[in-house]
Amino acid sequence: MDFRLTEEQVLLRRSVREFAETEMRPHIMEWDQAQHFPIELMPKLAALGLLGIQFPERYGGAGMSAVDYCICIEELARVDPSVALSVAAHNGLCSAHIFMFGNEEQKQRFLTPLSRGEKIGAWGLTESTSGSDAAAMRTTALRAGNCWVLNGSKTFTTHGRVGDVLVAMAVTDRSTGSKGISAFIIEKGTPGLSAGKKEDKLGMRASDTSEVLLENCRIPTDQLLGQEGNGFVDTMQVLDAGRIGIAALSVGLAQGAYEAALRYAQERKAFGTTISSFQAIQWKLADNATRIEAARLLTYRAAYFKDCGRRMTLQAAMAKLYASEAAVRAADDCVQIHGGYGFVKDYPAEKFFRDVKLTTIGEGTSEIQRLVIARHLLS
Ligand SMILES: Cc1cc2nc3c(=O)[nH]c(=O)nc-3n(C[C@H](O)[C@H](O)[C@H](O)COP(=O)(O)OP(=O)(O)OC[C@H]3O[C@@H](n4cnc5c(N)ncnc54)[C@H](O)[C@@H]3O)c2cc1C
Repeated sequence: MDFRLTEEQVLLRRSVREFAETEMRPHIMEWDQAQHFPIELMPKLAALGLLGIQFPERYGGAGMSAVDYCICIEELARVDPSVALSVAAHNGLCSAHIFMFGNEEQKQRFLTPLSRGEKIGAWGLTESTSGSDAAAMRTTALRAGNCWVLNGSKTFTTHGRVGDVLVAMAVTDRSTGSKGISAFIIEKGTPGLSAGKKEDKLGMRASDTSEVLLENCRIPTDQLLGQEGNGFVDTMQVLDAGRIGIAALSVGLAQGAYEAALRYAQERKAFGTTISSFQAIQWKLADNATRIEAARLLTYRAAYFKDCGRRMTLQAAMAKLYASEAAVRAADDCVQIHGGYGFVKDYPAEKFFRDVKLTTIGEGTSEIQRLVIARHLLS
């Protein structure tokens, strides 16, 4: 076993870190406060290959591995978890679904502009009455001649407002339960597709999250994605890979929070010495550094399984569960180490504390990860 990153991966980490520090760091509080999705950043992310990280060059992608993908998401999240969430949703949900289950024509037509960053991807599974229990969705797609007609709505869709290409799941046969769900590709501008309420969020405020409305939205039959009735099964596979991305986001966020806490602990003085000389603070730092390293290893292992083409449902769930909960603790300790300054916006601690909560909720809550893990253990 070799735990070292390759020279190319070290270089990749350095270049994404430099990008995040120079292009993102100066703006993050302004984006956060205004809930501004930084569309102006997209061409720069695209130039680095970050909008098509794992897709082959023939589809406009950067052809990187799943481990490379984790490094990129980690480095973005270390500075701004919101941007990392947008990049992860674009790559790991919308584009990945088209790459994994689309036909050649769909990949050429939709995946290529997504990978090049010419279009932004959105992915709609969750509805107002169905999140964890996604198969209970109400949105329907009925066949009408050469078209499918979609009716319903999607909730909490990342890029629901700014997205150009939406992959949405809908019920095509109510009688067969989760085997009666199919996936569809819908382009911005299609009559009947519109953005609903933009969510006013606790954290991840620079990532656009909105409702999506589908009202007699007619799309040609060639925009059915994957086999009719396979949409739910395919979605579970998309989420397995997507969860590795959220695990990497959690590792990066935890790293950013830990570094901020370490820096502050070495500067802040109390009782005539820096607070880093108190054992209570040292133990927090030691515990967080250890948990972050463990989370990183679990995440890279899941990514390694993906790169080997192996099934990684269990590994991805373990990585996502552990990394997100480690990140919550890192962000909490970051605020605590900052004392009162952790509670105000002059330091990065409070933003990490707000952003981090999404990691134990999005792409399957911690409870759902435990359920997936337990199912594997008991099967
Ligand atoms: C910022 C943000 C971005 C998002 N982006 C997207 C996106 O791009 N596309 C998309 O489709 N969705 C997206 N989501 C939705 C997200 O995936 C869901 O919020 C999540 O899956 C949980 O679903 P829910 O909110 O309906 O909670 P619920 O499913 O209602 O869960 C409520 C609580 O009950 C628990 N629970 C539910 N079932 C069980 C069970 N069987 N056992 C134990 N506990 C259980 C949950 O763990 C949770 O604690 C996003 C959400 C947010 C906040």
